[in-house]
Amino acid sequence: MSAPLLSVQDLCVHFDTYDGVVKALDGVNLEIPGGEMFGLVGETGCGKSVTALSIMRLIPENGRIVEGKIFFRAENLLNKTEEEMRRLRGRNISMIFQDPTVSLNPVFTVGQQIVDVIMIHQHVEKEEATRRAVEAFKLVALADPDKTLKLYPHELSGGMQQRVMIAMALSSDPDVLIADEPTSSVDVTIQAQLLKRLLEIKSARRLAILLITHSMGIVAETCDEVGVMYAGNVVEVGPMRDVLKNPLHPYTVGLLEAIPKPQSRGKRLPMVRGTIPDLINRPPGCTFHPRCSYAMEICGVEKPATADIGSGRQVACHLVKR
Ligand code: SF4
Repeated sequence: MSAPLLSVQDLCVHFDTYDGVVKALDGVNLEIPGGEMFGLVGETGCGKSVTALSIMRLIPENGRIVEGKIFFRAENLLNKTEEEMRRLRGRNISMIFQDPTVSLNPVFTVGQQIVDVIMIHQHVEKEEATRRAVEAFKLVALADPDKTLKLYPHELSGGMQQRVMIAMALSSDPDVLIADEPTSSVDVTIQAQLLKRLLEIKSARRLAILLITHSMGIVAETCDEVGVMYAGNVVEVGPMRDVLKNPLHPYTVGLLEAIPKPQSRGKRLPMVRGTIPDLINRPPGCTFHPRCSYAMEICGVEKPATADIGSGRQVACHLVKR
């Protein structure tokens, strides 16, 4: 694996709430080199989006990064000023948010919005920004880019809105793209087209992409590496094909069993039993032990260390020895 463009090390993030301190991230580690798509997968509430927002330094006001480092190339983003982060967000690291209807301003045409973004971050005049906006729309295969620029968000289908969001994120030619459930609001056909386009752009530009999703099926179709996240920890990491072929963490096994297969048509899919634990009062030991069919005595007492088992694979489970 080549040197990572983005590296997250031992990241811990807490949120202050009326009920207590929510320990949303409890030592997250991940690395993404240029030209790779890393899928961060797990159930809702496991900390995927908090990881993404922490990298962008955009966590809500009641949140704080209490420990860890986030490197973009050799620079720790946690040491940057807000002004430096603003510049980085515009030029080097971009993010596509889940819901385009929230991210796009309904009172401006999509053209005004993308042209403004390009003018601010790339310091170019309106004419040049408009030319670059048209190029960005072509890149994501938006039909008739000149006409689309003049439309308001409500005049676009969900798939077109999502393409506009991707075009905006790519318009600054970033090194790292964080895509948080980028296809959750579109149907499966559009989803497949958008993911295919992202893959092509990733290879052509040697982009590092962090794809956040709850779907192992999407990871299987698109990612080079996968990190399985559970209750604020990355419990298994490795090359996508290896993890899919031979999952080692019981939670990964459960997620894979829930992927629909042709032979399971009409049958009820297995699910990982139970729910994500209370992150204010995290279970002692392995946070997955209340749901794990393989739990042993030690699992309720001692948090498993992450074992590096070679070939780029790491697993945090007492069943797996280094
Ligand atoms: Fe299950 Fe124990 Fe492994 Fe946790 S450490 S996943 S409880 S076997």
